[in-house]
Amino acid sequence: MKDLSKILEYQKLDIELKKTDSEFNANADKKKLDSAKNEFNAVQKGFNADVAEAERLAAETERAYADATAAGKRVEELEKAFAAAADDAAKAALLPSMETEKSRLDSLKNKVTNNIERIKKLLATITQKQHEKKNIKTEFDRIKALLEKQLAEIRPRREEIKKRMRELRESTDKELMETYVLCRKDGVPLPVFVEAQSSGNGYACRCGMTFSPSGASKLKNDGFCRCETCRRIVYIK
Ligand SMILES: [Zn+2]
Repeated sequence: MKDLSKILEYQKLDIELKKTDSEFNANADKKKLDSAKNEFNAVQKGFNADVAEAERLAAETERAYADATAAGKRVEELEKAFAAAADDAAKAALLPSMETEKSRLDSLKNKVTNNIERIKKLLATITQKQHEKKNIKTEFDRIKALLEKQLAEIRPRREEIKKRMRELRESTDKELMETYVLCRKDGVPLPVFVEAQSSGNGYACRCGMTFSPSGASKLKNDGFCRCETCRRIVYIK
């Protein structure tokens, strides 16, 4: 019969380590940290979009302003030509292009004015998002420091467990260790090694499965055997 004491100690430490880690990961501050990170990323995304839109509008406004200046000059020239026209027919001939150029100038001026308004609004939201980012970052740093403190508290015990587990991996019976590792890889629930429970004249697994006479005799001879229902390794002391 194999001595199971080391693999059972290993299993106990493995369970403790997982419990410590899952408690840490499930703790409220950890969740808060994750949500602060997501919130920050969402604000950052909006911030980047606003900056890109403001830049696009600024470039568009610059072009519209240059076009408006050129259109203004053409309107002036046409007005001079109109004033200097020799007769009514010559004046009338200038009117359509004057109308076109004036309405083009008006729409360019409108575009410039509207764009400037939109840029102003964007700058306000950009500033606001900058504040939001700063606030979230402050909160993030605060929670992070808190978590680091908590982590520092559990770290010594975690290191101790890990060190002992490393030792046990070396000194435990190879076959038992491989069985344990394989079971964990296959998703056998913890604890993998469970003590047999007496059931009538025979034995049962923790999951309720009772062993057949052949299973029970293997259990008695080897000291342990696999439960076919939950795939755990059942042992008798
Ligand atoms: Zn079972």
